[in-house]
Amino acid sequence: MALPILESNRYFCDLPVSKEKVEYRPFLVKEQKILLTALESEDMNEVNHSILDLLRNCVLNEVDFDKLPISDIEYLFIQLRIKSVGETSDIKLACQNCEEFNDIVVNLEDINIDGEIKDGVINLTDNVSIKFRAPNFKDLPTDVGVDNADIESIFQIMRNCVECITQGDEVFTHDDFDQNELQEFFDNLNTDQFTEIQEFFVNIPRVKSVVNFECSKCGHHNERELAGLQDFFG
Ligand SMILES: [Zn+2]
Repeated sequence: MALPILESNRYFCDLPVSKEKVEYRPFLVKEQKILLTALESEDMNEVNHSILDLLRNCVLNEVDFDKLPISDIEYLFIQLRIKSVGETSDIKLACQNCEEFNDIVVNLEDINIDGEIKDGVINLTDNVSIKFRAPNFKDLPTDVGVDNADIESIFQIMRNCVECITQGDEVFTHDDFDQNELQEFFDNLNTDQFTEIQEFFVNIPRVKSVVNFECSKCGHHNERELAGLQDFFG
């Protein structure tokens, strides 16, 4: 006799950065196992792959995940986690005063996308501008996460996210230059120009939440900002 097949609920979510609408089902126990194994490995590449695999399985409409900004992926993952497992996550945070680790319960429903969504255009001179888009998982070098990139990785992310460079009426896209030419272009920026570009990347909307807690050892009042998936499930 065939056992019954369990139907799962369906939910909708509006992605805050790309504005795409997705329909999804909660993840199953077998899918959660894969994710937990990946999280334990602490290999960012593996974690990112598992998250994308999980989203591909659970999202029911057509979505190009390779093109979705990381913020949208993170936001969608949190919604999926809420519907699949529950709206809280248990993490440990070190006290800022005595460094004692405290057990914290994060309410995932308090997490929001924080930050202004900009058009990514940076005017470098009177007639030269550069346009960036928000990074997706594919833009990340294979061995780093969003939050622990070194300078070479940061350049790589920036190069990948260039949409175009404009001089007067002329528009240069990735078909017009190679990676070396682009790096040379970056190398010739002055510090102010480079700082402005960095600010675009630093200010890209992320999933964020603020948690407050009294340290169980010294009583110090801690206020910590959590940003990105590792902070919420680390
Ligand atoms: Zn303390």
